[in-house]
Parts: sequence; structure tokens; C-alpha cells
Amino acid sequence: MVEEKLKAVIRDIPDFPEPGIVFKDITPLLQHPELVDLAVKEFVKRLSGIEFDLIAGIESRGFLFGFLLAQELKKPFIPIRKQGKLPYKTVSESYKLEYGQATIEMHEDAFPAGSKVLLHDDLLATGGTVVAASKLIEKVGGEVAGFSFVISLDFLQSQGRLTRFSEKIISLVG
Ligand code: IMP
Repeated sequence: MVEEKLKAVIRDIPDFPEPGIVFKDITPLLQHPELVDLAVKEFVKRLSGIEFDLIAGIESRGFLFGFLLAQELKKPFIPIRKQGKLPYKTVSESYKLEYGQATIEMHEDAFPAGSKVLLHDDLLATGGTVVAASKLIEKVGGEVAGFSFVISLDFLQSQGRLTRFSEKIISLVG
């Protein structure tokens, strides 16, 4: 099974980035081209029921599979980045973290109004990051067509926050 094969190479790093947190590290997966290929093919298969015009990936690990997937499907890719990184005019959205807050940005001309956007990130935890990214998409007149993740933690809990944007949520692990 694809999920089992991916799970076998994704490692848990205890106490990163802070004590008490177990970080899911996908970097070993990137060292296995055949498993990366398997993951991309599985995404393509499971995305076949979702209609979208482009893929937006969230910095930075969302760029890895997000861009590969966009290229595989011959769709445009747009980066959603942390504040201050994008060179052209941006729209921005701030959201709460457990301690403090974060701001993400997207180019204001990233896509034409009315576009259907698949949002991609490596991992879904509380959903705060993709909720903020969904608001960015809507700010410039886009529509969230679905979400894709390599891993999702607490899927049932966090997916409730996402369904107001789209009920199409794909996760390869978890
Ligand atoms: P959320 O906003 O709580 O859903 O957290 C998801 C964001 O934090 C994503 O952009 C992830 O890249 C990052 N993240 C949170 N926990 C992990 C982890 O265990 N491994 C990799 N990324 C993580």
C-alpha cells in the first residue's frame, strides 16, 4: 500500500522544534525517487475527481510535491510565502500560532479572478496555515477547489476547519 511505503521512510523527530513536539520529517522520502514517483502518481489518481486550474503550494515544504504535481498535471504553480519574501505586490493574511502569529503572502496577480485553486502543503496539523492560505485565495477572487497533503495529523479535527472552503481533502498518510 502506498501509505505504508511512505510511512516507512517518514521519520518522527522528538522535541523539534520545541520540547514536547514530535516533528514528522519527510526529508528521507526525498532520497527515494521511486517513492516520490509513487506519491506523485497517488496524488494524481486521487485528484482525478477534483477540477482545478492551478496549484498553490505553501512555503517551504509545500513547494516540494506541490511543484512536482503541478508540472506532472501541466498546471501553473504559485508560491504562497512567508512575509517579505515575494518581490512583487502582494496580498497578505495573518494567523495565530500557538505562541505569537505568522503572516503569509501571495502575489496579487498570481491568477485571474474566478480561478479554481488546489492548495497543497506537506502536512496538515491544526489547519491554521491552510485556512489563512484559503483566505488569501479568496481575497483575490479565487475559489479553493480542494486541499492535498502528504501527511495529516488529527485529520478529523482539522478537516472541520477546511470544509467551509472545500470538502475535497486528500492526504496520503493519516
Ligand atoms: P497547521 O497550521 O497547524 O496545520 O500546521 C501546518 C504547517 O506547519 C505546515 O506548513 C507544516 O509544514 C508545518 N508543520 C507542523 N508540524 C509539522 C511536522 O510535524 N512536520 C512538518 N511540518 C510541520
